[in-house]
Amino acid sequence: MKDLKHLYYLENLLQENNNELVRQAREQGRKCVGTVCYQIPEVLLNLPGCFSVRMRAPRTSSMEMGTYYMTSLTCEYCRALLERGLEGGFQFLDCLFDPASCSQMADCAENIEKLELCTAPGFFAQHVDTPMKDDENGVSHMVNMCRVRVLQKLHEAFGVDVSDEAILKAVELHNEVCGLITELGRYRAELRPRITGYEFSVFCLATYCCPKDLLLPILRETAEELKTREPDEKPPYRIRVAVAGAEIDDPDFIKLIEDTGAYVAVDRYCFGSFPGRQRIELDTESGEDLLTQICRKYVAECQCPRYMNTSKVASRKAYIDRLAREYSCDGVILQQINFCNFWGYERAGAAHVLTTDYSWPVLSIDRPYTVGMSGQIRTRVQAFIERVELKKMGGNR
Ligand code: SF4
Ligand code: SF4
Repeated sequence: MKDLKHLYYLENLLQENNNELVRQAREQGRKCVGTVCYQIPEVLLNLPGCFSVRMRAPRTSSMEMGTYYMTSLTCEYCRALLERGLEGGFQFLDCLFDPASCSQMADCAENIEKLELCTAPGFFAQHVDTPMKDDENGVSHMVNMCRVRVLQKLHEAFGVDVSDEAILKAVELHNEVCGLITELGRYRAELRPRITGYEFSVFCLATYCCPKDLLLPILRETAEELKTREPDEKPPYRIRVAVAGAEIDDPDFIKLIEDTGAYVAVDRYCFGSFPGRQRIELDTESGEDLLTQICRKYVAECQCPRYMNTSKVASRKAYIDRLAREYSCDGVILQQINFCNFWGYERAGAAHVLTTDYSWPVLSIDRPYTVGMSGQIRTRVQAFIERVELKKMGGNR
């Protein structure tokens, strides 16, 4: 297929946290809000006057210092982030919101704060507790947290407008970005897809790591470009897969899977599009306040193993099953970063349920944070492709 016009630019942009668009927004006087988890509603961190950047540690090689502070038994994403902070890589942040949902991430954020690794004037780190059940108590807990620890804090620290008008403006921007990403992502359902899973993951990740308004022209142009893009006559893939699990903030992982012969038709991981890139529909006539409506949506759609009530546990597997069917997948790859507690137990349970109750071939892997060149992962994906092909020849899924 012909190269997408903006792909190379975004690939380069994603090599850095403090990228060109982030610097541009800061020069305009906007505050840069670091965030690390889906659970704190991203739209609240993008009120007029501020913008969010999901923190990553691209091109990580050594994590020695991060390991010294956090031990080798903590998740590599957290250690890599701390390492990047110790190297001075988060100086551009004006504040950092981290969820108390993941204790390892909370430790990482606390280290960043206590070691004073961010020195922007007035920098603060704010911990935000998140619920473990998706009932009304959970929603109300989330609303209180977001009101006091997010909105109030942004207003007090930076004078950010947190009125309903400002929230509606942020939702409007969020919805336009989500609409475009959904449009791009839907092409993955085509059997001769006009966008690769890798390309999609680059565009989707950019929406988490750049000020959304500055990215919009690129997304709009790419959506137009894709309308007439000719797919390859014969796609170079042997099977189609859904990739689910913990955070993937490195598109090279998706590239590795696709280079091995499995088309990544749909994503269900943090930093991906399901959930995260769905429109927020607000009912301004209902009388319910906007913050509650937003929190309810985030609680309902969250697919994090942090939610432990039975219905939520079961619905996570059904969600993967639904997506995998909708995008005509042949199998599911479940992955987690080494030493991630949440996904450690979720992955084991989900692999079993998806295999036995939903009859999916499943590849279940734990992986290093940086996987781009991993020969071991490549071999496992290769073996999975062969297993799925054999099964398809036998007429079963
Ligand atoms: S897995 Fe859960 S805690 Fe971790 S980033 Fe995703 S939503 Fe947040
Ligand atoms: S990968 Fe797991 S342990 Fe690490 S920050 Fe995410 S949820 Fe927490």
